[in-house]
Order: sequence, then C-alpha cells, then structure tokens
Amino acid sequence: MSAFIDARSVPSGTVLQPDLAIIGGGPAGISLAMALASTPIRTVLLESGGMVFEPKTQKLYEGSQVGAPYQALDATRLRFLGGSTNHWGGWTRPMDRLDFEERAWMPYSGWPFGRAALERYYPRAQALCEAGPWLYDRAEKWPHEKEQTLALGDGGVTTRWFQFSKMRGSVLPTHFGERYGDDLKHIKRLSVYLHANATRLGLDASGAKINQIDMATLSGHKFTVKPKVTVLAMGAIEIARLMLASNDVAPDGVGNAHDLVGRFFADHPIPRDTATLVLFNGQLAPFYLNTQGMHGAIMRAGLFPSEDYRRKNAVMDSSTTIENNIDLDELGKAAVAATAAALGVDASSAQAYSLGCGMEVTPDPNRRFTLDSERDALGMRLKLHMRIADSDFAHFRETLKELGRQLLASRTGMLRLNLKERGEWLDGLDWGNHHMGTTRMHSDPRQGVVDANLQVHGISNLFVAGSSVYPTYSAANPTMNLVALTLRLADHLKGVLR
Ligand SMILES: Cc1cc2nc3c(=O)[nH]c(=O)nc-3n(C[C@H](O)[C@H](O)[C@H](O)COP(=O)(O)OP(=O)(O)OC[C@H]3O[C@@H](n4cnc5c(N)ncnc54)[C@H](O)[C@@H]3O)c2cc1C
Repeated sequence: MSAFIDARSVPSGTVLQPDLAIIGGGPAGISLAMALASTPIRTVLLESGGMVFEPKTQKLYEGSQVGAPYQALDATRLRFLGGSTNHWGGWTRPMDRLDFEERAWMPYSGWPFGRAALERYYPRAQALCEAGPWLYDRAEKWPHEKEQTLALGDGGVTTRWFQFSKMRGSVLPTHFGERYGDDLKHIKRLSVYLHANATRLGLDASGAKINQIDMATLSGHKFTVKPKVTVLAMGAIEIARLMLASNDVAPDGVGNAHDLVGRFFADHPIPRDTATLVLFNGQLAPFYLNTQGMHGAIMRAGLFPSEDYRRKNAVMDSSTTIENNIDLDELGKAAVAATAAALGVDASSAQAYSLGCGMEVTPDPNRRFTLDSERDALGMRLKLHMRIADSDFAHFRETLKELGRQLLASRTGMLRLNLKERGEWLDGLDWGNHHMGTTRMHSDPRQGVVDANLQVHGISNLFVAGSSVYPTYSAANPTMNLVALTLRLADHLKGVLR
C-alpha cells in the first residue's frame, strides 16, 4: 500500500516520467485509475486539492460571468479528491438511445456512436456509483400493491425512475475520494499526488504531441510531468481553462485549431414550480415525492417524455419531478371543481402538488468560456458567457401540455402551467451543476474537439475524460454516464499504451 504524495514535498525541478498522467481526481479520474489497476501501465494521478475542502485551493475555481444568471464558478464544483461528488446529490439515470442520435430538429446533435457502445460499461459504472442493482425502468412493478404509478393513459409522458448513489454504510451518496482512497493506495503502479495543480500543457514544436505538463503547488513548488499519454479529467470548466491557457505553442490554445474549446457549455436548468398538478382522488404514491428503498436500490419516480414522443414531436428531453403538496388558491379550487364536474369525477379529496424539472438545453456554440484578462495565483481565469434560449423553455412547456392532456384524458387530474414569459422561467432558476460540452466529441475535427476515442483531434497523446465531451446532453444526470464513458476510454488506453 503506497501513501498519497503531497506535491508540496516534491522538490522544485523534479521531472516525473510515467506512462500515463491523469489530471484531476474526481469520479472520472478515479474511475480511470481504478480501471487500469491490473495493467502494467505506470500512472500518476495529479489532483489539485487534498482530502478535504481548503478555501485557498477552492479559490482557484473563481471566474467571471456575463449573460443569463448562473452559479458562481467556485460554488458550482469542488476542488479536492473526489471532485464535485463530495457534495453531489447522487441522482443517476442512463441516457436513452435517442440521446445519441442525430435529430433534424436539434442542431449539432449526433454522437459518433450509439448507446450500445456504453452498454457493457454501465454495470461497472453503476457499481462504482453504488447505485444498487440496475433497475431503472424495469422497476415498473412496484412491490407494494397499494402504491401505484399515476394512471396517465396513452400519451407521450410516462413514469420512469431515478436511482440514487448511496455510499456503503452511509446515507450520503458516494464521495469518490473518501470511498475509493484506499483502493487507489493499493494500486501497485499508481502514484497519487495531492495539492498538485496542472498549470500548462506543453506541446512539442510540431504541435501534435504533449511533451510535458507544468505542475505547481500553492506553496510555490514547481515540477514537471513527462508522460507518454495524458488524460484531462478536471471537469468541463477546468479542462477548457487548461487547454485555452496553454497557448504558448498554439496561440489559440491546445486542441483549439477550430475555435471549439470552451464552446457548447451546457448544464441542466432546473426551473422551480413549473406547473401545479392536481390529482382528483388525492392519491399519490410516496415514491413520486421522496426516495424509497426497493430491491436493494434507492429510487424515485419522475415523469418523462418517452423517446417515441420526443422523436415524433421534435421535443428535447426533460425529467419532471413532483416536489411537494401545496394549497390551491380560490381560483385554483374553482377550476378543479369545474373541471371535475365536466369530467364527471369526484374531486372532494383532490390534492395539489408543485412540479419541478431538469431540462435538456439545445447545443449552443455561443454559450461558452473564454480566457479572462484576470489571473489567479496559478494562471489565467475564465469568463463564462451564459445563454439559454426561449425555445428550450418552449420544448419543456410542450411536454407539460402533453402531461396535462393525458391527465384529463384519463380523468386522473389536471395541470396548471405556471411559467410562460422568459422572466418567469429565469426567476429563481436553479441549475444541476452538471457541466458538459466544452470539448465536444465529433469525428470531424472541424466540429468536435475530441474524436470517438476521446482523443483530442490532432494531438496523438492527449485524451479527455468526463462530460465535457458530450455533444448533446440528455436530461439524464451525467455522472454515472461519464463514468461509463471513462471505463470505455480505459479499454482504449490499454491498447494505446500496450
Ligand atoms: C451540488 C452538486 C450536485 C450534483 N448532483 C449530481 C447528481 O445528483 N447526479 C449527477 O449525476 N451529478 C451531479 N452533480 C455533478 C457531478 O458532481 C459531476 O458530474 C462530476 O463530479 C464530474 O466528475 P469529473 O470527475 O468529470 O469532474 P470533477 O468532479 O469536477 O472533478 C475534477 C477534479 O479535478 C481536480 N482539478 C481541477 N483542476 C485541476 C488542475 N488544474 N490540476 C489538477 N487537478 C485539478 C479537482 O480538484 C477535482 O477533484 C452535482 C454537482 C454538484 C456541484
């Protein structure tokens, strides 16, 4: 068992020469290191933080922003071993087959491979996330007879399931650093450096290979890593920063010959109180409102547009959750009474609920990061240019309308849409903290930063792990999917480094 190395004790001027350098010890970096554990590949994992939150290190995540309201860049992620899983919510769901397809109505859509390419990695990704047995939509047969899914009748919206990560022996979701720290220490050919910040990717004179990574600690130590292969696993924002700021050989930054690095940033907007759901008989199974244990998994139901409905009606993905029981105002009560009378149903026990949601956004090249003029202790800061299109809200509104239609058709209930104007959607808008898209994947170098093997186009020994490579975003929570993608990358790297 080898202890982690504190980079602040590494003498300045040291040169490390591993086979593989993984920069970033979040779920992507940790999963990659673990997947290569039994290979002869000599690996260093370079992590900026330590084992716990440290304000000075966290400060390196600060940046500026303009445009649509978004979280402060140092508040939307965590910079220590385990990355943002140190405070993630643990929601997991695999992407749908449709999420990988090219769709005429969605510009820039289409992954270079289908979901089949990830299928064999999902079970291990699910296990690493400790999200229990793979149930998801197979969970329709809920074991408690009295607790049924909503009778929605035929239509585009159906009940589907989230699963939740739960760290063994704890109520918290898996914190990858804490949970897998000892496993990393047992990997023979792996050295983990903490407090080690990558500050520059050094290209050779041809610009086609990374020949060194400059490293720095906040205590002023500087050393160099010269790996055969480098994997960037610092999360979508920081990967863009390091690539853009490494601009000494390629003036626009590493891998940025086609001005794509930092573009297409995405997250899942979470508008609150999007609609009011009324159920005429007042009966709602508890698994809609809260997580429940089932067959060894922790699950919660949501209302999702089916793949068929999305395809036929050209709408984007979303996941609607039923949030809490609310009181209706007098107007609402009158509307319920009138609708129930028209449908001939008894609404004397009706209950109302507020709906929330996680929405997919359209890929947008101008929702992007650029280098800022400001610097922090270790380098150039980033500026976020945040945008969200009205059409994104309109897509979700269509899905809500479909849900409302189904509720009426099945005489189960009714829906009141609460948000219409842009200002209403933006008011109190929350975000998933699901950073995606800054190094999108495409087989054509003019349309993507990385290829289908996650190799940066034109740079033979540089790869990217994480959701920055997603060309489109689904509404599925990204982490279990990005771990699956990383396990696929591990298999590819075994061939590269053979
Ligand atoms: C509040 C919150 C709730 C969330 N809830 C969910 C959820 O319920 N479900 C879900 O799927 N996802 C959720 N997420 C998102 C999830 O946490 C991320 O998808 C995931 O952590 C990304 O993994 P990663 O390894 O790519 O990057 P990160 O987790 O960001 O890890 C990157 C690592 O790189 C290190 N690093 C950064 N810069 C450098 C550098 N220059 N040199 C060396 N190391 C560096 C960082 O310290 C960090 O450890 C949530 C996120 C937040 C913030």
